[in-house]
Amino acid sequence: MTHNDNGPRRPGQVKEITSLANPIIKDIKALSMKKNREESGTFMAEGLKLVIDALEMGWRIETLMYSKSAKDKPLVEKIAAKTVALGGQVLEVSEKVLSSVTRRDNPQMVVGIFHARWKPLKDIRPQANETWLALDRVRDPGNLGTIIRTADAVGASGVILVGDTTDPFALETVRATMGSVFSLPVTRTSVTDFIKWQKASGTVMIATHLKGAVDYRKPDYRTKPVILLMGNEQAGLPEELADAADIRVRIPQQGRADSLNLAVATGVMLFEARRHLLNLEGH
Ligand code: SAM
Repeated sequence: MTHNDNGPRRPGQVKEITSLANPIIKDIKALSMKKNREESGTFMAEGLKLVIDALEMGWRIETLMYSKSAKDKPLVEKIAAKTVALGGQVLEVSEKVLSSVTRRDNPQMVVGIFHARWKPLKDIRPQANETWLALDRVRDPGNLGTIIRTADAVGASGVILVGDTTDPFALETVRATMGSVFSLPVTRTSVTDFIKWQKASGTVMIATHLKGAVDYRKPDYRTKPVILLMGNEQAGLPEELADAADIRVRIPQQGRADSLNLAVATGVMLFEARRHLLNLEGH
């Protein structure tokens, strides 16, 4: 590790790193493992716009890394100064280092390490016109990222992860959210706690099930705040969760496919549940 001393382009307190063997880089690379993300409570997000948005939304940055060859250097340096002011560290690194930490041949030129945030279930008090998404044991990072992005786009209020799910702060998931991981609260909980919370939450819980007797377009999504409950990719919803729902709906299908992909089914459901609240002027 070499400390920046006299380079006129770099703001003070920027460390220059080109070696993959640098212990700071090793620690950042270790964030590819869930265990290490849990232990440090941090995760990685790629891209200048994303980092700027996250900082604007008040996310706590631990480390900003940028490439020597990053375009828009004045803006990068502004973000670097902000990071330092917020108590974070700033690293100017080689493209080789960025490739290695992001596991990409053509890495983004700016990467941020942020402190993860989990919204406690007890703090969720759904209000009128709110839609909350509950996902049972979602396993695929790409699905989860796509779902978080879609939930954000449709104006849902947050995502509740029920049971043993994939990590929303894994790099692949964060990538698939396209920044929405910073906009939407995410909660994790057990089946038992979720059911208990839902019963007392004043919401209507609508579960999606391939054996659902109700067409998904039939429920009145306006009467109470809505919890949309989606099942695991392989197994679908377990009985305990399906039984806890007020309504079990199905999206009618015509072709030979057994079911829809989880993220697609979630998109269909979210846009139906919030159809009355969406209009082209709203964006
Ligand atoms: N083999 C699983 C089963 O029997 O439920 C398929 C699960 S499907 C790939 C994943 C989830 O997507 C389901 O649990 C459900 O939440 C949702 N889903 C997919 N297609 C659906 C449909 N036609 N109607 C309602 N929900 C659907």
